[in-house]
Amino acid sequence: MIKRTKATTPATAVTADTETRSAANGRPPELQTAPPDPDSETAWMADGNCRLHPPATFFPSDGVGVDKARKICRGCPVLTQCLEYALDARIDHGVWGGCSERERRRILKRRRDDAAAELTAVER
Ligand code: SF4
Repeated sequence: MIKRTKATTPATAVTADTETRSAANGRPPELQTAPPDPDSETAWMADGNCRLHPPATFFPSDGVGVDKARKICRGCPVLTQCLEYALDARIDHGVWGGCSERERRRILKRRRDDAAAELTAVER
């Protein structure tokens, strides 16, 4: 089961074990985390661009902060996994997959509307 928490960003959601931290993963010392379990459903988090930034960056309080987080997400190699994870888990805080809470709500609504329209078309 995936641990769902509002207080972490993908790259920092990995449980830290200070004894096994790798200095070679490119993170500043204060953001070091344990290597992820490669079989974990969330192993992709270790590759996120956000691993190089403080978690608070992804929980902004205004639009300027959202834009700053989005810029970090842009070009992230796991952007799609991150967005789908947040949508699937209904994470309603923070920037995930380059999308704010509002944007994720819109995506979910659009998907629900599309699914309803498809169902209606099939029933006709
Ligand atoms: S898309 Fe953004 S929040 Fe998600 S892993 Fe990449 S940098 Fe982190």
